[in-house]
Amino acid sequence: MAKKVIIVGGVAGGASTATRLRRLNEDYEIIMVEKGEHISFANCGLPYYIGGTIVDRERLIVQTIEGMAARYNIDIRNFSEVIKIDREHKAVTVRKLKTNDTYIETYDVLVLSPGATPIKPSIPGIGAVNNLFTLRTIPDTDLIKAFVDTNKPNRAVVIGGGFIGLEMAENLQARGIQVTIVEMANQVMAPLDYEMACIVHDHLLDKKIALVFEDGVKEFRCNGTKLVLNSGRELESDLTILAIGVQPDTKIAKDAGLNLNKRNAIIVSSNMKTSDPDIYALGDAIEVKDYINGEPTMVPLAWPANRQGRLVADNISGRAVKYPGTLGSAVAKVFDLTVASTGNNEKVLKNLKQQYRVLHIHPGSHAAYYPGAFPMTLKLIFDQADGKILGAQAVGFAGVDKRIDVLAAAIKGKLTVFDLPDLEVCYAPPYSSAKDPVNMAGYVATNIIEGLVDTIQWYEVDEVIKKGGVLIDVREPFEAELGVIGGSINIPLGQLRERLLEIPKEKALYIYCQVGLRGYIACRLLTQLGYKCKNVDGGYKTYALVKGINGDQGAKVWHETKDDGVSTAVPDVLGKVTARLNACGLQCPGPIRKVFEEMANLKAGDILEVRATDPGFQKDIAAWCDKTGNVLLKGEFSGEKKEFVVLIQKGTQNISGTATIAGAVIANNKIDGATLVVFSGDLDKAIAAFIIATGAASMGKQVTMFFTFWGLNVLKKKDKPAVKKGTIEKMFDFMLPSHTGKLPLSKMNMGGMGPMMIKHIMKKNNVDNLDTLIKNAAAMGVKVVACAMSMDLMGIKAEELIDGVEIGGVAAYLAASDDSGLNLFI
Ligand code: FAD
Repeated sequence: MAKKVIIVGGVAGGASTATRLRRLNEDYEIIMVEKGEHISFANCGLPYYIGGTIVDRERLIVQTIEGMAARYNIDIRNFSEVIKIDREHKAVTVRKLKTNDTYIETYDVLVLSPGATPIKPSIPGIGAVNNLFTLRTIPDTDLIKAFVDTNKPNRAVVIGGGFIGLEMAENLQARGIQVTIVEMANQVMAPLDYEMACIVHDHLLDKKIALVFEDGVKEFRCNGTKLVLNSGRELESDLTILAIGVQPDTKIAKDAGLNLNKRNAIIVSSNMKTSDPDIYALGDAIEVKDYINGEPTMVPLAWPANRQGRLVADNISGRAVKYPGTLGSAVAKVFDLTVASTGNNEKVLKNLKQQYRVLHIHPGSHAAYYPGAFPMTLKLIFDQADGKILGAQAVGFAGVDKRIDVLAAAIKGKLTVFDLPDLEVCYAPPYSSAKDPVNMAGYVATNIIEGLVDTIQWYEVDEVIKKGGVLIDVREPFEAELGVIGGSINIPLGQLRERLLEIPKEKALYIYCQVGLRGYIACRLLTQLGYKCKNVDGGYKTYALVKGINGDQGAKVWHETKDDGVSTAVPDVLGKVTARLNACGLQCPGPIRKVFEEMANLKAGDILEVRATDPGFQKDIAAWCDKTGNVLLKGEFSGEKKEFVVLIQKGTQNISGTATIAGAVIANNKIDGATLVVFSGDLDKAIAAFIIATGAASMGKQVTMFFTFWGLNVLKKKDKPAVKKGTIEKMFDFMLPSHTGKLPLSKMNMGGMGPMMIKHIMKKNNVDNLDTLIKNAAAMGVKVVACAMSMDLMGIKAEELIDGVEIGGVAAYLAASDDSGLNLFI
């Protein structure tokens, strides 16, 4: 039977309902009433039009009234507001906003998709403010844009650190405005948990957005040019955006006596019916069921509104379909970052007192060896009992949305963490890795549930140390140079088996590495040997997200910004760059080593511009500059070129009375040298030794490598001159590798196949081969000493060794080790 359907609201939900309804029912009378000028416009694109990314205003209008009316035969009435619902007579009163005339229109079915309005609290002084805006519609957008164009504000305050607030901050800054975000919570982006939001905070600060947390606006003064916060602090503002959330636009529903929740959202059944069987409601105006925990909630997002629009049309048309609840999948661009989430976060689950487990991983967006790979932080929350996926969050420069989309699909498909390793997603190096981050998350979760490893979270670490737990850092020493968790001891994973005596068996052990993988391997090894240990989930990287480098900088940083009001602008030094270095494609420690070499050629005050794609570079270079007394002027990510660009000024201050910073570095670190005894002649150990040596040298350490016994094989020349040798010496020559090209692997040598494979992988990953590493070490001033006594024993002559090797006794090593803070035996 043909029906007359009136739809209130003509944007996301309303327009979806109307068009699906027509596709199903050619004979229905469909009237869509919209109080604004535009229907079906791109609310989500509005901030980008203000910022200038979307240039053409017309592009915001997805569908015109004429276009939709012609295609779908829908009676569209804009500038018309439904002001009353008469349920008894099944009629609405409509006011024509241009003339103020009203009329009554009857319906068989009424659909309410009126959306939500920005919350505008009655803060003292708000009535007299003339520079305060909210953003919901195209006219709102026009007002803000015109204000910026005409008044050219210098400073803006965005109140609220949600999606719209952050998008506005970015777009106002794109217009050359200094922006401060004021947020009542201790973080931006409520769907993220705190440690994940810290990545966003860091990035916002990098982008010179000032952040004020745990504070709100108490009063507007001077017509809004002064904001007084609850803390008493005052902020100057030429333009203020209020983006503290939305409330359902449901006065007509309330007046009509429909069931609403405490926050005035319309309560609907699973087939989208209100408490009146002839009235449906959808979109931002309704309460929905949380898909994960089943509790009532409100999720003002475009996907639910569009999906519900179709389901409302289906139900009106006699196709009984149910809406299963909202997962809340969301994504936002925050400058160069992509931030995405789906399902429940820890905060929600904690409130519900629900049991859950958490994991963090930091995989690359695609294969590390293919240019442009960036790490992301992916957090997965799951049920230990049955592996149910409860939620996921990810933040990074690339590939983030894809992983959260896959996880959202997995949740809706009722897959568990046990299914994630089996998700056969597509792979090629520019797009992913053969083990996609989603697969990896599944492996880690499975390991936890199956009891292969137990973990602790970043927020538990400090407490377990206080309680006497032993924290072991299984990273390489040079990694520890760039930041550690206080109170940990460093035993690199490769040395763990040999140094077991140093590890107390009766104590609770907590293991960490950079991202969690080596920690897991160490835990497996130790657990099998009878130790009680847990891995620090997500490694040092996750801990440092909140606690900062060495656990003492993190959250403090943005509170400092809070005190400043606005952070200082980057000094304008681009025209003064003295030298440029392209380290793109090199992996850690390659870029740092190159910087070290290049800086040695510069004078104090010179400026070096470095471009790098290694994701760790931005943090490493900050630590390096800090350690070496150079000044990091600027460090930013170029979204367009997908590379980090940093400007470093060679330091000018004198340390220990030395004249230049190059001298200062050495003077400053004199008692902080590094010595490595290389006993092994295995290729892998030699590579590791030289990587550590160059890493340490690039940190300004005076490095001495002492080669003894089998380690001497690493130093043998390829084209050795003929030397006179006795029978036993000749036998040694015959049995031992004759140069670096012949060195075996310590494991998986497989008759020479292993070394070939490792060389191939190193080449693919842009890691220098051993000969190049040796040359680089020499160029960086690493002292290479061959043990005279071992040479005698093995019949190796000085002429057979590569150039630059010094021959010395154990005294040379001991003298160097006296000045060493780092002493390794390989
Ligand atoms: P709306 O699309 O808001 O439509 C409601 C319409 O009803 C309005 O046009 C209103 O004028 C009209 N109306 C209200 N009352 C009456 C009445 N009594 N009579 C007649 N007409 C009436 N969501 C995302 O998922 N991703 C994003 O990136 C995103 N970005 C956003 C950016 C901005 C700036 C804004 C404002 C929103 C954004 N959203 C985003 C949210 C998304 O736009 C909403 O969730 C979605 O539009 C809700 O659809 P709806 O139909 O419920 O309400």
